[in-house]
Amino acid sequence: MSNKYETFIGLEIHIHLEANTKMFCGCKAQYGDEPNTNICPVCMGYPGVLPMVNEKAMELGYKVARALNCKLSKNTFFERKNYFYPDMPKNYQISQFEEPVGVDGWMDFDTPEGTKKIRIHDVHLEEDAGKMIHAGDMSLCDYNRAGYPLLEIVTEPDIKTPEDTELFLRNFQRMVRYMGVSDGNMDEGSMKCDANISINLVGKGLGTKVELKNMNSPRFVRKGLSYEEERQADMLDQGKALTQETRLWNENRDQTEVMRTKEEAEDYRYFPEPDLPIFRPDQTFFDLVESGLVELPLTRKHRMMEEYKLSADQAEYIHDDLYLADYFEEAVKLGGDSVQLFAWLSSDVKKLLNRENLSLQDSPLTASWLTELLELISSEAISGKIAKKVLDFVFSDKKSPKTIVEEKGMSQVSDPAVLTAAVDKVMAANPDVVEAIKGGDNKQRGFLMGQLMKETGGKAAPVPLQKILAEKLG
Ligand SMILES: [Zn+2]
Repeated sequence: MSNKYETFIGLEIHIHLEANTKMFCGCKAQYGDEPNTNICPVCMGYPGVLPMVNEKAMELGYKVARALNCKLSKNTFFERKNYFYPDMPKNYQISQFEEPVGVDGWMDFDTPEGTKKIRIHDVHLEEDAGKMIHAGDMSLCDYNRAGYPLLEIVTEPDIKTPEDTELFLRNFQRMVRYMGVSDGNMDEGSMKCDANISINLVGKGLGTKVELKNMNSPRFVRKGLSYEEERQADMLDQGKALTQETRLWNENRDQTEVMRTKEEAEDYRYFPEPDLPIFRPDQTFFDLVESGLVELPLTRKHRMMEEYKLSADQAEYIHDDLYLADYFEEAVKLGGDSVQLFAWLSSDVKKLLNRENLSLQDSPLTASWLTELLELISSEAISGKIAKKVLDFVFSDKKSPKTIVEEKGMSQVSDPAVLTAAVDKVMAANPDVVEAIKGGDNKQRGFLMGQLMKETGGKAAPVPLQKILAEKLG
């Protein structure tokens, strides 16, 4: 996009809270059950029923607001947001508007240009709607999801590029996973993101806002916003006015399409939910929220860079997944070298996990076994090359590296008599190469080493072997 324009991106992120039951009734909040099995008169919107607040969801909502550095409300309450939709049987959604659980926060995230800060407008609790399934000329409703505890996080339009938006979302996703408040899976719908984007001439402030929906991964959010950024710049270049509208990202066509324009925008007529009391948390509740805070991903990443001498990219890789980050730190505590651990985890271990279609969590390779493997290399019991074979056996035989090396006789050979015999044999078999090296062609040494490794089944300890070979060659 031409640099005469400036971009403003704001997000509305919804996450399903891991609160076991729905927001205002005792129905199970679980993904993937038979349609319409987790329902009751409350979440089906029958007249005369009384909603009750899910306290666990309330606690998780406050925790997220706290982690996002928000001012926490001392008297939060719910309101009815009125609109009609077939998958919402009450004809209103219970949400928050005037007094959400938290306001005026911020979140930091890392970009290639350094750490950036995005302001959070508010964090509020609400309930999800059901799900419509369109089949041919029929539409079916599944109300299992109706009433799911949802948390909406609204940012200020502080994000400057689609690339930053993707990074921000990934950091947010990691944060909720680290905190255990949501699984944050966008493809399963437990995290959703609507984005608004406007562009304007540099220094002129916000432009005409377009809202983008229907993007089910951080990558699609970036792609949708990039498309929209270009489209809006083209319009402005041609002197055309932009329309305030909602557009859908069409993943198959790689473009955004109009869903509705401002004229059709709804007035929700918010008013306080009369069946729910104001929630006034006491000190015990705030203590509970405080005690549940964990080290957040960005803090952990920066600490790992400092403590384990990892580069930003290495720490980015390790901290991305909570299990991997814990695993890594456990292995370091057991004596593993941090850079070696990173190297193995990001290449050979990763390749094996992909091949076996396993997560690290489900693999037989524990942190202590990986540390053991590294120790076998550093003590020169095995070479790095043999270590890869040992790793393979760890996965197939589910035995520790030490056991495998012992059982399969994979230890490195450093006995001078054995090595000398091998050197003699290989030199005798390659008299012309030996002559060439003695004549000064040092490039051929690599060939001889290769032959020696073959001869010893890859088990010769390289350092003493090199030494004996050098002596023999004079
Ligand atoms: Zn229910």
